[in-house]
Amino acid sequence: MAEDMHVNPQRARQLLENLGSVSQTIQSASRVSGKNVRLVAVSKLKPASDILALHTSPNPQYHFGENYFQELNEKAALLPRSVRWHFIGALQTNKCKPLAEHIPNLWCVESVDNAKKADALEKGRAALTERLKTQNENGTSNGDSAGNQEQLRIMVQVNTSGEESKSGCEPGDTVALCRHVRESCPHLKLQGLMTIGAIARSKATTAETENEDFVALKDTRDKVAAELGIPADELELSMGMSSDYEGAIAMGSDEVRIGSTIFGERPPKKDAKVVEDVKEEKG
Ligand SMILES: *Cc1c(COP(=O)(O)O)cnc(C)c1O
Repeated sequence: MAEDMHVNPQRARQLLENLGSVSQTIQSASRVSGKNVRLVAVSKLKPASDILALHTSPNPQYHFGENYFQELNEKAALLPRSVRWHFIGALQTNKCKPLAEHIPNLWCVESVDNAKKADALEKGRAALTERLKTQNENGTSNGDSAGNQEQLRIMVQVNTSGEESKSGCEPGDTVALCRHVRESCPHLKLQGLMTIGAIARSKATTAETENEDFVALKDTRDKVAAELGIPADELELSMGMSSDYEGAIAMGSDEVRIGSTIFGERPPKKDAKVVEDVKEEKG
């Protein structure tokens, strides 16, 4: 468990420094929009000890993003319940139910792109809610699950770049999917829309240029809000990663997802370790 996880002090210092400088950039970039931008630290392929270092610091980071089902399961089992997990990776339909059912501190699933996946997440969260209710009634609750399990937040991932390789719902299908979540999935809360966007556009993004993917996500959000009769500012925009987050914030992003600027380059998936080998310290 987390208590006996080894956190290298030097590594921890470096991570905190990186996080601090990203947070500062976010602060100054959001002065114009006036929004309180959420930072999701994208920890995929990085060890659980990196997450622990940021989460247990005096100024704790709560939101972490993961892309792989198995890896998230392992990390969630090792790390404190106070972590707020975001699933941001390609989502397989058959993983949706277990994801929503077995990770109570899963805070948001951001890569929902069709109604089947929404329905499976709904089933999983309904099952979790039912199980916790029974535990409470029987007095078998271990205390940390007391009270009502909240709705699982979801975001609809929109394919704003039109690239075939990118997952995401077509902009034209987004209203229908959002309506489905709001009307047929009582255990889910539609939190907003997410896009990744084209890499070339992302690299060309500065604080001054308008990235077309961000324009498209905003337009889609405004359309969804109008069609469903909800205020636009109740639907968040999750856009912006290491290479383009200042530009995304300038365009009204509510949430940025930042990995490599905080954690450094990622290892190939085959070399990634959830628990690192502890090297013998000399001396
Ligand atoms: C990996 C990933 C990120 C973080 O990317 P960086 O460029 O390392 O900041 C953000 N969003 C999604 C969906 C990702 O898969």
